[in-house]
Amino acid sequence: MNRFPVITCKKEAERPIHNRHPWLFSGAIKQMPAIENGEIVEIHLLDGTLAGYGFYAPGNQIAVRIFEFTRTEIDVLSEEYWYTKLANAFSIRKEYLISEQTNCFRLIHAEGDFFPGIIADVYADVVVIQILIQGVEKLLPQLLSSFNKLGFMHVYAKMKEVSERIEMVSIAKGWLTPGEHPVEMDVLENGNTFRVNIETGQKTGFFLDQRDSRLLLKSFSHNKTVLNTFSYSGGFSVYALQGGANMVHSVDSSRSAIEMCEQNVAINGYGSDRHQSFCSDTFDFLKSATEKYDVVVLDPPAFAKSAKAVERASRGYKELNLSALRMIKPGGILFTYSCSQKIDKDLFRKIVFGAAADARRNVRVLHQTGHPMDHPINIFHPENEYLKGLVLLVE
Ligand code: SAH
Repeated sequence: MNRFPVITCKKEAERPIHNRHPWLFSGAIKQMPAIENGEIVEIHLLDGTLAGYGFYAPGNQIAVRIFEFTRTEIDVLSEEYWYTKLANAFSIRKEYLISEQTNCFRLIHAEGDFFPGIIADVYADVVVIQILIQGVEKLLPQLLSSFNKLGFMHVYAKMKEVSERIEMVSIAKGWLTPGEHPVEMDVLENGNTFRVNIETGQKTGFFLDQRDSRLLLKSFSHNKTVLNTFSYSGGFSVYALQGGANMVHSVDSSRSAIEMCEQNVAINGYGSDRHQSFCSDTFDFLKSATEKYDVVVLDPPAFAKSAKAVERASRGYKELNLSALRMIKPGGILFTYSCSQKIDKDLFRKIVFGAAADARRNVRVLHQTGHPMDHPINIFHPENEYLKGLVLLVE
């Protein structure tokens, strides 16, 4: 059995450990061992008993990210251990999500799958990973062999700027598996086809986290005029067309996003008689538009990337929602989202409340949406919850 350097916690850390919170803050550690960033450590309570294993990051406020709570020793360096973790995550998706209609999904949602420091998204037989901490970087051999055993022959690494800058993750973006790779591929989501470019797409290629919300939009689209803002590759637009919308307008400020959107609309068999796209800033588009819509979708990028940015971001969300509320026909529907982790459900609802009051319209909440099942939230770790949405009836 491998033994690992030991971290002993202060008394005050026992409650969060009992509550299975996966982060151990530096202030809760009795003594910092002199070991390298990314090493696996054993976490001990004050009385010397084992509490679990985690990735160590000296100098970071989150000094340990715990990936296993256990009172008995486990060989957490073995390939078998990591394979089992990935296989468990895969089996939940297989049971509840993957089908002949859907072959793109999130396989690992970091702490939500008891695996801090990694995001892994699947597009058919390709896995795109984002490694967020050094601890996971050191496990790459075990991970690659596990993905292979699970049937994923192609693994591509994308990097996040913050992981390189703050966590000193040094792995370069690129393919981690040998041979030829499918760079551009067509994947299925609820029977709709989307072309995804693994190397150049935003995030890991596609916004997998809006799958359930798109299905909801489909059910509100029949015979409607729909405005989909921040449309990216047209996920919501395609579902609205599938749901029978008379006309869908897609708006994005990125030219390449608009091109992808038009391509996806065409691949699914819809023409310009029912879809039009606009390469424009959404704020400008909403201000200058003269047409009113039955249904509006607002799915902007995260306005608040840090706690400091929350106030400014809140003003941005309010302005956006107010502009949208002003251009919805009576009895229309607003799908509004925020993916800023720093703006929680309650604050988001207050912001939209403010916009509704200023718009002087009756607004009712029909649905409150969150993460789909392949983005599970560990109940002990609400910090991983970022996406929230409201479906509003606007009179
Ligand atoms: N709703 C999309 C995901 C949105 S991602 C989906 O379901 O796939 C956010 C998108 O907003 C990106 O495509 C980005 O290019 C676009 N964007 C960012 N700022 C914008 C702005 N001010 N106006 C319009 N589009 C913007």
